[in-house]
Amino acid sequence: MPITLNPNREKSILRRHPWIFAGAIHHVDNDPASGSTVELISSDGLFLAHASYSPHSQIRARVWTFIDEPVDKDFFRRKIKAAINVRQRLKMESLTNAYRLLHAESDGIPGLIVDRYNNVLVLQSLTAGSEFWKETIADILVEETGVQNIYERSDADVRELEGLKPLVGILRGKPENQLRITEYGLHFQVNIATGHKTGFYLDQSHNRHRVGEFAKDCDVLNCFCYTGGFSIHALAMGAKSVLSVDSSADALALLEENIVLNDIPANRHTSLEGDVFQLLRKFRDGNRSFDMIILDPPKFAPTAAHAEKASRAYKDINLLAFKLLRRGGMLFTYSCSGGIDAALFQKIVASAALDAGTDATIIEHLSQGRDHPISLHFPEGAYLKGLVCVKSY
Ligand code: SAH
Repeated sequence: MPITLNPNREKSILRRHPWIFAGAIHHVDNDPASGSTVELISSDGLFLAHASYSPHSQIRARVWTFIDEPVDKDFFRRKIKAAINVRQRLKMESLTNAYRLLHAESDGIPGLIVDRYNNVLVLQSLTAGSEFWKETIADILVEETGVQNIYERSDADVRELEGLKPLVGILRGKPENQLRITEYGLHFQVNIATGHKTGFYLDQSHNRHRVGEFAKDCDVLNCFCYTGGFSIHALAMGAKSVLSVDSSADALALLEENIVLNDIPANRHTSLEGDVFQLLRKFRDGNRSFDMIILDPPKFAPTAAHAEKASRAYKDINLLAFKLLRRGGMLFTYSCSGGIDAALFQKIVASAALDAGTDATIIEHLSQGRDHPISLHFPEGAYLKGLVCVKSY
């Protein structure tokens, strides 16, 4: 069932970008079913790729393979085995028993995310194509990982664009909703049924460890703390005090459990439920100061269309953070917005420092963990950026 592209619209496919937008398509033959595999051909009839068909989405097709080969169970087994092999080479298991096993487009399976939480896999299917192959993929995952339990968290908003309803529940085995994971020797409770994303922000795992390296004897402010990932790492590595702020009471309740789980004396930690934007102002007005501040906000700009408003929000919190930092203090500041690239993020942070009357240096550029790889042909896969800044003045 071929899809024929408009003249001169094959360039992006020839550069191996996996998305075909509706505007690039000349015509679709035989009304293929949602998620089914279609052949993409150029306007002069040449084979380009096999892809999944998403009739409801502006991204009308996503490439499975640029080679003329069958797209079947064996095809997906090869992709999944390759992704598992990469994580083995990265020795993920020696660092943490919770990590991303499959990172969608970047691991060759557009729309499919699989996170491993010890003996449970959490699967998120985001596109018509990944939905079409979901049961086959679940079988392969059990066969190739030996993990018997798979929970589905296909409840991200983007499914709507594909005409898919949210789906949450058990796919294989008997996974518990609340699990315990161990990251760099520290323990965390994760709720895979109600937690954000698939339960935990696995993309920040190595960055949490990084914060721990510098936290000794520091007074730390952890903004947007969720279940306390950065806080626990800082406390375990000798922070003098940590103040953790989040607007979610559920997240803070798990944070308190995580404090106990790691035998951290309660008097070194304070949780505060509230809005970071307001609390930072309150701290400024109260002349509070810190040696280390972490800003890990939610996605302010899912796409470039939201970039302007998001830029103002990033600038606001970074400006306030620079004011609250003591001289020589460290700012760990992140953006997970696809709509803000690394260069723009750095500009925003620079202008925040300027308006705060602060001089600061960047000592490190940070990114998502290695288990969230970025295909060279799919730059959209690079979504998380971070800067470690030291306030010099
Ligand atoms: N750093 C965390 C992940 C942060 S995710 C980790 O390593 O696990 C972003 C968090 O920001 C979520 O927990 C969400 O509840 C919280 N949040 C979103 N908007 C907020 C706001 N305006 N004020 C405070 N917290 C907010």
